[in-house]
Amino acid sequence: MRVWGYSPSFTAQLRVRSTEPFLGGRRFWFTCPRCGRRCRVVYLPPASTRVGCRLCLSLRYQSQSRSSLAQYWRTITQLRRRLGMRDAYTPCHPFSSPFRPRGMHYRRYARLVHKLEVKESIYASLVQWQAYRRRPGRPAKRRTDAR
Ligand SMILES: [Zn+2]
Repeated sequence: MRVWGYSPSFTAQLRVRSTEPFLGGRRFWFTCPRCGRRCRVVYLPPASTRVGCRLCLSLRYQSQSRSSLAQYWRTITQLRRRLGMRDAYTPCHPFSSPFRPRGMHYRRYARLVHKLEVKESIYASLVQWQAYRRRPGRPAKRRTDAR
């Protein structure tokens, strides 16, 4: 079981089921006490005494947070294109907003620029956070294994 942070003497009853994979051996699964789903990892939220699966606690796998990064990137690219900027690679400098495209209403333009700035700063901090998480010398995951 994966335990986050400090949890004083915690016990949970988990039902374990096993399946026999095609290639032999045996695969063990937990049964999520919250939804009854079969899962390989259960989580204990910091301020809770009830474990649950990833879906119940709406946690995201790392790959999914990476795909949210991709979603931000897509939005940024779209906004930049609508603002007539050719690519999504040059950073939007706070003091030099892109020119207002011909025929675009000023309020719409201001709204787009604002949205772009917000998305870009979120994107930048997500990138920094992921770099921080993967910095060398850091244990990959705080985990205690207890069957
Ligand atoms: Zn669940």
